[in-house]
Amino acid sequence: MTTNESALGEADWRRAIELIRSAGTLALACHVSPDADALGSMLGLGLALARTGKKVVASFGDRVFAVPRLLRFLPGQHLLVEPSAYPAEPELMVAFDASTMERLGLLAPHAGKAGELVVIDHHVSNTGFGTVHLVDPAAASTTMVVEELMNRLGLTIDREVATCLYAGLVTDTGSFRHSITTPAAHAMAGRLLATGLRPEEIARELWDRSPFAYLRVLGTALGRATLEPDAAGGLGLVWTYVSRADRAAEGLPYDEVEGMIDVVRRVDEAEVAVVLKEDDEAGWNVSTRSKGAVDMARACAALGGGGHPRAAGFSSALSVADTMAALRPLLAPEGSRS
Ligand code: 5GP
Ligand code: MN
Repeated sequence: MTTNESALGEADWRRAIELIRSAGTLALACHVSPDADALGSMLGLGLALARTGKKVVASFGDRVFAVPRLLRFLPGQHLLVEPSAYPAEPELMVAFDASTMERLGLLAPHAGKAGELVVIDHHVSNTGFGTVHLVDPAAASTTMVVEELMNRLGLTIDREVATCLYAGLVTDTGSFRHSITTPAAHAMAGRLLATGLRPEEIARELWDRSPFAYLRVLGTALGRATLEPDAAGGLGLVWTYVSRADRAAEGLPYDEVEGMIDVVRRVDEAEVAVVLKEDDEAGWNVSTRSKGAVDMARACAALGGGGHPRAAGFSSALSVADTMAALRPLLAPEGSRS
């Protein structure tokens, strides 16, 4: 049995292991509006540590604290506490899948006051905001880094822990379709499957179910999708939006529209795909994808967000038209920038 072979320094691993072993209480936090990689990496490590008798609390800093419906099947939810119940000055805090301290939302001040802050991530744009960094941009998911950490800690990866890790791995690789799908990613999937987890149940929870209202809202959003062939340096842009009113008309919660970009990004005529999603606080969360010629992490960082070269996002308080007007000039393909 091998583990993921990351390029991380041995000193970082040693320090992280030392801190985790000696801490009385571990305070875990993942990025706001958690996806399967954020929540799965946090709950996977949390569960495995809790089983050794460690005291563990886990949370994420959204103003309205709720686990997205499609992630409620993840084991380990009993470890979650509301941000208001989170230790104000944790002795040891561990951050998951967050590229900046701001991505911790309401828990960013806690991270600032933590005695030690271990940052576990795979974003190339990670700002190094902790005291110890396990950041591997070659890892397909944060759960890949977590698996190696668990092996080094000698923790048992049982079926429930494996379910958490697998959810992050399949999500961030796009079901092993994205370019980040390495032999190491498949090898890890093999190890996790060997614990007896149910890939068909995980896939159904993550992608293959939704309330009927989703079809109605999807229809509205797709009905107004716009193709701009001249945008992105002539490589094409496809975009649409889902407003709060669209969702209210059908009684659809915000988290149900999170993945709509996966439908929109398939368009042949567009290098870049964008979906603007209005949340319940009247702000827009913008999902962007490219096919490789446009660096979306760079474009979104210029607007206060971030992510990966082909999948990134940002938040906007502007109107739909103004948000798109701000984004369009940033979509120059690599190599064509002056
Ligand atoms: P998604 O479109 O699936 O929400 O996000 C795609 C990628 O962009 C993920 O890696 C996610 O963490 C990142 N991302 C999305 N929104 C933001 C944002 O507002 N700020 C930052 N820093 N990253 C974001
Ligand atoms: Mn991730």
